[in-house]
Amino acid sequence: MSMFEDIPVDVGVVYEGERIRFKDTQVELGGERAEAKFELVRVKGLDEIEDGKISVIGPDIKDMKEGSTNPFGIYIEVAGKKVEEELEGVIERRIHEYCNFIEGIMHLNQRYDIWLRLSKKSFKKGFNSFHVMGKVLQRLFKSELPFIEKIQITFITDPKKVKKMYDEAIKIYEARDAKARGMKDEEADAFYGCTLCQSFAPTHCCVITPQRYSNCGSISWFDGRASAQVDPKGPVFAIDKGECLDPFKGEYTGVNDVIKEKTMGEINRVCLYTAFENPHTSCGCFEAVAFYIPEVDGLGIVHRGFKDVTVNGLPFSTLADSTAGGRQVEGFHGLSIEYMRSPKLLQVDDGWSRIVWMPATIKERVLDFIPQDMVDKIATENEAKNLDELKAFLQEKNHPVVKRWKAMPVEVAPKAEEAEQAVPSLEVPISGIPISAGGFEIILKDAKIYAKKVVIRKVKK
Ligand code: ZN
Repeated sequence: MSMFEDIPVDVGVVYEGERIRFKDTQVELGGERAEAKFELVRVKGLDEIEDGKISVIGPDIKDMKEGSTNPFGIYIEVAGKKVEEELEGVIERRIHEYCNFIEGIMHLNQRYDIWLRLSKKSFKKGFNSFHVMGKVLQRLFKSELPFIEKIQITFITDPKKVKKMYDEAIKIYEARDAKARGMKDEEADAFYGCTLCQSFAPTHCCVITPQRYSNCGSISWFDGRASAQVDPKGPVFAIDKGECLDPFKGEYTGVNDVIKEKTMGEINRVCLYTAFENPHTSCGCFEAVAFYIPEVDGLGIVHRGFKDVTVNGLPFSTLADSTAGGRQVEGFHGLSIEYMRSPKLLQVDDGWSRIVWMPATIKERVLDFIPQDMVDKIATENEAKNLDELKAFLQEKNHPVVKRWKAMPVEVAPKAEEAEQAVPSLEVPISGIPISAGGFEIILKDAKIYAKKVVIRKVKK
């Protein structure tokens, strides 16, 4: 039974979280193999929009080769008396949710990083045009966000046009992000929470503050506020900060209460500015991962678009697997690019003074936000391709982590309070010997572990 009579496939919440494997894919839109992709929402005047209009620029689904990957853009224009430009980011983030309501559509990530698949099964049922998708999206947007009075959608698959609009979209995202800069968490009267990713990561709840952007990098504190105002019962909601337990770590009673409630008691404490002790959970759509490199006692950062392996020999996908799922994994931390521009970036862990490696493209993007004296001390793939090269580089540049090396004892005895918490165990499947420690934190320093894949799981009591 379909939610809409004239739509050949079913539409509903049950399809959220549906994964479509490549062999079951009719067409892939965006994703790693596509050069350019984007999704963008713009607010227009009521007289500028033809409500219900759907356009396709470039080949439609039926004209695409089975199993092909295509450049892709979704451009949505909305209007309404109560629709302000401030809502663009929030409406845009809903594309992810509503696309995933459609049987046979998988939508991952956001903004310039979108990745969609349409299943062969749904294609055979008659889903062979973007007009089908456009109709569903228009109806969902209007019924779920009633303040939208008019909506028109353009799907772009023409490679040149996608690239051109992608360049424009990047400028618009940047302008949105810049708006929230400068405001401090301490000054905010409330924070905002987002559970949009719970369909893929059931125990994830994003805490969005002025100085900590959502993991996906597409919802700022201003976006959160705008969303909570127009749709207070929606997946983005206000969080009463409560009492600040620790301003340096970023722990608030109000945040802990909300996390506990939204994760059904799975997670009880979150410190906003650390990757180690009670870190923020990581969903699956984070733009980048900060990962601990025990050999140098520093943190590396890698973003989704980095195609090579990182300095420790693991690619983004493996590190992301170790991080994702709504868990708190010490030493593996999903984050947004915008959070790297925040003065509070992992400040508990020493922030930029602890970061030792990141891809050159990302370093370039956040360059103005790296403290002057650290810029030359952080390696990229151009300076260090493996851990030996990294060690030599850090030593040569006298990176602050080098001081930590001198005092590198084997740390076994945790503080009493740390022993209380659930602690991740470390499994190295290749050797078949899991290193797990009930109630103790084991920090492996100066250890060499070679593994195809690292799985870190929280130990259930
Ligand atoms: Zn997410």
